[in-house]
Amino acid sequence: MTLTTPILPPARLGILGGGQLGRMFTVAAKTMGYQVVVLDPDPLAPAAEFADEHLCAAFTDAEALAKLAQCAAVTTEFENVNADAMRQLAQHTVVSPSGDCVAIAQNRIHEKAWIRKAGLQTAPYQVIESAADISEASAEFLPGILKTATMGYDGKGQIRVKTVAELQAAFAEHNGVACVLEKMVDLRAEISVIVCRLNNEQALCFDPAENQHIDGILAYSIVPARLPQALQQQAQTMAKRLADELDYVGVLAVEMFVTGDDSVLVVNEMAPRPHNSGHHTLNACVTDQFQQQVRLMCGLTPGNTALLSPCTMANILGDVWGDDGSEPNWLNLQQQASSHLHLYGKKSARKGRKMGHFTTLADNADAALQAAQALHGSLKK
Ligand code: ATP
Ligand code: MG
Repeated sequence: MTLTTPILPPARLGILGGGQLGRMFTVAAKTMGYQVVVLDPDPLAPAAEFADEHLCAAFTDAEALAKLAQCAAVTTEFENVNADAMRQLAQHTVVSPSGDCVAIAQNRIHEKAWIRKAGLQTAPYQVIESAADISEASAEFLPGILKTATMGYDGKGQIRVKTVAELQAAFAEHNGVACVLEKMVDLRAEISVIVCRLNNEQALCFDPAENQHIDGILAYSIVPARLPQALQQQAQTMAKRLADELDYVGVLAVEMFVTGDDSVLVVNEMAPRPHNSGHHTLNACVTDQFQQQVRLMCGLTPGNTALLSPCTMANILGDVWGDDGSEPNWLNLQQQASSHLHLYGKKSARKGRKMGHFTTLADNADAALQAAQALHGSLKK
């Protein structure tokens, strides 16, 4: 369904997925006076604590989807949701982003094709759908990373390869599922741009975040990115262009690599939802990315994306909990006047599991990063 007039509180909004992104969406929507229905098969879904209704069922469950279809509008918090379920929902209610956009973002092969269609650069790549696609010609993309076309996140589903023989072994290790072989680029920095788009006329970007990963998982997002202003503007223009090409409605995160001596921007991937690298917006921007998701699904104009203060967002993984499950040392962090803790209410802390994050505001990006690193170091039991 297409939206004719904006959806206003206390309308009921639905979301597919009740993880931390769904939780922060739910808090934003509830704060604005909407009611929220969350669909998530996990009885302990982080969003359930705040939602008016938790449909604890599979994402393809017909009864649960019928209930979601009664909401005034429906969105998603993750890309691996069934795109067909979203298309079905769209016959009864307003769905954003569209099932088509989600289907593109959940498959690296489609995703890269669309990035190029938008006139943007990707790393050189080869689609590998069967062992027969691997030949001496694949050497052009080596050394490279073999990434499964679907279901990858936090660096999962990726194998680094240097030779054609290693590539063959890696493809077999992925059990022959469709993959993309991506050439390693000369990575100088990683950034992400979050676009908030209602239509052609109404689209705003947050300032790019500079992202630092540890062991393949986002560790710190630094804003503003410590890169030339012109490059940051170019990144925003590129992200908007991709959103326009997709006729995207909602919050779209676009990850980019800054490559080589001449700082060429290469698009890595996109996420059709708010993004971990946008969590700083909760404390450091006029409008946060979850408020934007609510506004856009309701057909409202995107909110002001201005950054109010330099900051660094630090992820808190299960690694900082004690081996016996004891809580990290929160006191130091909680005593800081310019740091803000967000915990996702997850019951068990496993290594590598995103349990929460905090954002530290400071006079400049370097100071914010340093303070965040020191605070992060004080958490470990
Ligand atoms: P996430 O969910 O964290 O975004 P992902 O599993 O979707 O991760 P990618 O974003 O494709 O995976 O890659 C993870 C990381 O690996 C990147 O952030 C980057 O540091 C590195 N990487 C990926 N592709 C390349 C490349 N072509 N050249 C150099 N480094 C790369
Ligand atoms: Mg990524």
